[in-house]
Amino acid sequence: MNWFDLAGHRARVTPDRLALEDLASGSSYNYRQLNEQAARFAAAARGTWGLGEGDRIAFLGHSRAEFFVMLFGCAKAGLVLVPLNWRLAQPELEQLMEDCTPKALVFGEEFTDAAQKLRTSGHVETLVDLDGNAEACRHYDADLADTTPELTPHSDRDPDTPWYLLYTSGTTGRPKGVIQTFRMMMSNYLNIGLAVDLTGQDTLLNVLPLFHTAGINLYSSAVFLAGGTVLVARAFEPDQAMDVLENRATIFFGVPAVYQAILEHPAFSGDRLRNVRSWGCGGAPLALPVARRFVEQGIRVRTGMGMTETGPTVFLLDESDVLDKIGSVGRPQLLTEVRIVGTDGRDAGPGESGELLIRGPNVTPGYWNRPDATADAIEPGGWLHSGDVARCDEDGCYYIVDRWKDMFISGGENVYPAEVERVLVEHPEVSEVAVVGVPDEKWGEVGKAFLCLRPHSQEPDPATLNAWCRERLAGYKVPKYFQVVDELPRNALGKVTKQVLRQD
Ligand code: ATP
Ligand code: MG
Repeated sequence: MNWFDLAGHRARVTPDRLALEDLASGSSYNYRQLNEQAARFAAAARGTWGLGEGDRIAFLGHSRAEFFVMLFGCAKAGLVLVPLNWRLAQPELEQLMEDCTPKALVFGEEFTDAAQKLRTSGHVETLVDLDGNAEACRHYDADLADTTPELTPHSDRDPDTPWYLLYTSGTTGRPKGVIQTFRMMMSNYLNIGLAVDLTGQDTLLNVLPLFHTAGINLYSSAVFLAGGTVLVARAFEPDQAMDVLENRATIFFGVPAVYQAILEHPAFSGDRLRNVRSWGCGGAPLALPVARRFVEQGIRVRTGMGMTETGPTVFLLDESDVLDKIGSVGRPQLLTEVRIVGTDGRDAGPGESGELLIRGPNVTPGYWNRPDATADAIEPGGWLHSGDVARCDEDGCYYIVDRWKDMFISGGENVYPAEVERVLVEHPEVSEVAVVGVPDEKWGEVGKAFLCLRPHSQEPDPATLNAWCRERLAGYKVPKYFQVVDELPRNALGKVTKQVLRQD
């Protein structure tokens, strides 16, 4: 059995079906071509570039079709792909390179300088230029063309071998490299593929970055396994996305920031978007007013929850529950068990909050080079501590309350900022909001709300906002400070980086 030859399998059963198209360059691959290119990549990496079993190979570039060639190529070659967040500054990139010690770095032309610097500073030996313009580098196309690919390699590797590494978003601290395995991808395929009824007829528009699990696995990898088509956008670009959603895509997954942007697009209307049969959202809470405006247009956005550490799918809301259970992330999916454990160590009952624990074949074996962090996060019995507070209702639907680390204590009472944010974002003048705890002499900590306003709205005075909150929340939850800002600081996935706000 060869767990690793996904591309080869599809090339045998649906060779002529369109697998992958790059919306920026127009290049496309059917499954036969995807498999052949992956085999050529494997041969070039193991031969020309001199990499051996288990070696890491990093990628620095915008989203592009070659990413998936490399991913399947690494599977064939027994290499570990490390996609890097191209938004990072040079010292941050160096930190990641020191952590994963790749032998080679493949880069897009926009990152030639950064790549050259990483070689000069001794962080990598071999540079591979995807666009073929840089000097003193290997050239991807030429080197791949120059190989004799072995299309169906045999492997005795087991499904828990590291296949690629993903650095966490760093929303709450220094990014950690999460080991990703074949077993995790296959589990995610079952979890999400069954929940969304993925078929070979599906076409996915992927607008999310490929250095993150959402870009790779929601739903791209699952679509490849099902034999469908993945359209890769270089980045989320609203006009392009609207066009593809209207005319080509049948399924879509976005983070809340993407849904917000679609809503604000002048061409947004449910009638124009009928081609898409399934809409998924996760990564951060989807504001209820946004979810409702999609429902008004006849679009039921299914919210889900996942983590880099869990491959990622854990929860997804059923389409039939979107109206009744708005705000819920739904039920755990096929291969994944969850528990909610209170601070007293007991399992929480319906309605009670506690830490969300996750177990299943979709959970990572651990963090790269970080046995300490792995032991902290994963219990010997396999339960992963998510760091999230959750609760479950009487019907078995789950809600993410907040992250433990974002909770603060005001006058001895726990405040979950997400609860306060849900109230403030319902205010007619407010479009986005983030609440953090800040030190206070009297109460220990108090809330501070950062607000973005809807276009053309009047700045509400703090007393009005205060009254709005007081009508809907206990007094200790009401923020003491309200500050209007033009935009909230966000990471590459559009998540609000609260540590930046706490420093303000
Ligand atoms: P880091 O671990 O580096 O701090 P991160 O936790 O944001 O970053 P990811 O693995 O990308 O990295 O995100 C997983 C987290 O995102 C979850 O643990 C949860 O806090 C949050 N999340 C995911 N989906 C949802 C959702 N639907 N609602 C609320 N929070 C969500
Ligand atoms: Mg995390």
